[in-house]
Amino acid sequence: MTVGKIIELLTGKAGILHGEIKDGTAFSGDRVDDVCNLLRQSGYSYNGKDYLTNGITGEPLEAYIFMGPVFYQKLKHMVADKMHARSRGPVTVLTRQPTEGRSRDGGLRIGEMEKDCFIAHGTSHLLYERLMVSGDICDVVICGQCGLIQFDKWCQYCRSANHLRAVKMPYACKLMFQELMSMNISARLSVVSILFIAFEKKKKIFFVQLTITLLTLFLYARFGVTSSSILNGLLVKNCSGTWFSNKLFQNLKLIIKFTLKNKHNPTKKK
Ligand SMILES: [Zn+2]
Repeated sequence: MTVGKIIELLTGKAGILHGEIKDGTAFSGDRVDDVCNLLRQSGYSYNGKDYLTNGITGEPLEAYIFMGPVFYQKLKHMVADKMHARSRGPVTVLTRQPTEGRSRDGGLRIGEMEKDCFIAHGTSHLLYERLMVSGDICDVVICGQCGLIQFDKWCQYCRSANHLRAVKMPYACKLMFQELMSMNISARLSVVSILFIAFEKKKKIFFVQLTITLLTLFLYARFGVTSSSILNGLLVKNCSGTWFSNKLFQNLKLIIKFTLKNKHNPTKKK
């Protein structure tokens, strides 16, 4: 194919110069030697390369240029028709995921293979950000006792508000759970929060809790890293910012209380 193009070009050039129809196919037709001779007869270089002059400076070009006529089919796929980018934009109503396709100002898909690459590189936060934050993240309240998705601040199933946790999940995931529920299949989520467990067991693992809290505080103060990035390495986030703040505050109170209770202060007068 590639050599055929060059032969076609040479033959075409010779054909034009002599006003003849030539056959420029690679494995038959006119022989290259004959074609080269024809070119030479017309005062051109035998190998199809010609002397050219720079049209701006009038100086000769530093190299001979191989040129001639050649049959060419233009590809109609143009870069200008393909180029596309977006940040936030339109989403589909049902799944709340970004629309697809350039004509709909769609998002760029992170597919199965890209996902595998993220995992292979260990970039879990990037994976989380691509699949959730930039996609269809939504806040869902889950009851820790029954594991069902609940509305706002009340579990209708347990008739209690004591075990509710705010989690973040892809909207499509929430949608699927609700579709399952419509088919009489209950999808129950077991919500685990590191901080919550620590808080439940209180004094038993007080030092673990203390470490976590201090680490959290340090990271927050030093790097501005919040609960979500520290505690929620998993895709399903354990708690929302507000919930964490409250919990952190409670932890702090507990620590202060504990410290005051056990503090031996020799300077204090009785
Ligand atoms: Zn419940």
